[in-house]
This record gives sequence, C-alpha cells and structure tokens, in this order.
Amino acid sequence: MSGTLVLIATPIGNLGDLSPRAIAAISECDALCCEDTRRTGLMLNHFGLAGKTYIVVNEHTEHDASREVVERLLAGETIGLVTDAGTPGISDPGERIVRAAIASGIEVSAIPGPAAVIMALIVSGLPTSRFVFEGFIPRSGQERSSVLTEIAAERRTVVMYEAPHRLERTLADLEVACGPLRRIVVARELTKLHEEIRRTSLHEAVQHARNQEPRGEYVLVLEGALPPEPATEEQLEEALRRELANGMSKRDAAAKVALTYGAPKRLVYELALRLS
Ligand code: SAM
Repeated sequence: MSGTLVLIATPIGNLGDLSPRAIAAISECDALCCEDTRRTGLMLNHFGLAGKTYIVVNEHTEHDASREVVERLLAGETIGLVTDAGTPGISDPGERIVRAAIASGIEVSAIPGPAAVIMALIVSGLPTSRFVFEGFIPRSGQERSSVLTEIAAERRTVVMYEAPHRLERTLADLEVACGPLRRIVVARELTKLHEEIRRTSLHEAVQHARNQEPRGEYVLVLEGALPPEPATEEQLEEALRRELANGMSKRDAAAKVALTYGAPKRLVYELALRLS
C-alpha cells in the first residue's frame, strides 16, 4: 500500500493560525517537505515538534525532490508538505509534486488553512463571488504588458501578490492600464502586528506608495472592469450600415451587430428595417 501526500497550510504571519489538524499531520508524517529547514524548524520548535526528517523542496529542487518523494510514498510513507508560509502550491512549491504523486496513483490530501490571496479578497469589500488570482505578474517585457492588458479588461475581481520593492511600479502600471479611478485594495502584513488594509483608488495608491516606502508583504485586490456602456442607436445604425455596405442582408447584419454589441436582436433588426 502506498502512503499519502499531505499538503499542510501554515500561518502567513500569526503563529496562532496553525490549526490543530496541521499540528497533528506534521507530527504524524514520516518526513516533511519544506522550502527552508531553518525557517520551518523555528516554527515547529514553537509547537514542540522538533526532530522531523526534512526533504528540501523549493523552486530549484522540486523537480528532483519529487522523484524521492514519490519513491518514499510508494514505499508506504506518509509525507507532509509545508512551505515557508501559507498554502502550498499557491505561488509556492507543491504543484509539481502533487502531479507526480497523482501520476503514480498516490493519494493526495490537504489540511487547509491560511492563504494571503483569500484573506485579502474577503476583507477587500470587492466582489468575492467571482475572482481571478494572478500570483506575481511578470516583471518586465511583452509578457508584463499583455498580462496588464488582460487584467485591465477582466470583469472579475483580480488578486495579485507583489514584492515591496516593485509595489510602486506595479501600481503605476495598473493606473495606466485601468485608469486612475479603478478601486484597489492594498492589503499589507496580514495577520501580523502591522496589518493594514487600504481601500482606495489606483491614483491614490500610487501617490501613497511614492510618499511612504513600501515595507513588508503585500496583496493587491483590484476591482474588475465595469461592463461597457450599452451602444447608442446611432452606433448600432452606423455598424449596420457598414455590414450592409459589405453586402450582408438586413437579417444577417442585424444578427451580427446584435452579437457584437450585446444589444437585443429585435431592436437591431427593427433599426435595420428602418434604414434606407
Ligand atoms: N503560499 C502563500 C499563500 O498561501 O499566500 C504565498 C507565498 S508567496 C511566495 C509570498 C507572497 O504572498 C508575498 O510576497 C505576498 O505577496 C503574499 N503574502 C504572504 N503572506 C502575506 C501577508 N501576511 N500579508 C500580505 N501578503 C502576504
């Protein structure tokens, strides 16, 4: 019988957030994957959980470590996986090992808990029913511009992680892409002593980041794009004329224009019939 891979969420700042189930899972596993043995060791000491066998899994070692982990799991061991903070696999190692375990028919389970993305989203006051998580957006180049363009057009709430030294630039780029008035929530040092949640506009957020050197850990929660204004009758007629000039029938032109502008088909068809 093979063992189980258990993904275990740990605190994003406040040690009081390590759940009793997480403590039990850590103490019961045969070995614990972690990014940094010193950091995880410090946390475990706090809970009297010293003396675990560690397997280092970080962005450099995850590929090779997943082979060792799968072998141990196939031999029947229970392996826990934690990261430096929060939920494994969320802008952190985990995804690759999970895939390798699933491919080998190994059971994968999790002890859920803190994740900065979820805490920032739920305190933001922005719509939570549909949202997109972008993690850290690309730092430069074409990739960054296309992601910014996609984010600007996104209708759902967008959550991003950002390092303090890149905060001002990212906010400034978002202001250019989304306009100065788009609402943003800058959530800093969540669950920690200096927790701060600023609900503001992109313009004001840029000014604030310029005036006060960003420090600590940040999550950005951006309001989704508002639906476009409905097209006016004049705009619909102009679009219809273009399609008719291209040789389309009134019925087909109306169907196409209605679809393009999200306008009611009957209204657009009536406009088409009235055109000379
Ligand atoms: N796995 C983690 C999680 O579940 O949130 C995320 C790890 S990622 C390497 C680290 C980033 O998460 C930070 O740069 C920051 O953007 C965000 N983050 C983590 N802890 C945070 C906190 N206490 N307050 C605000 N942001 C935090």
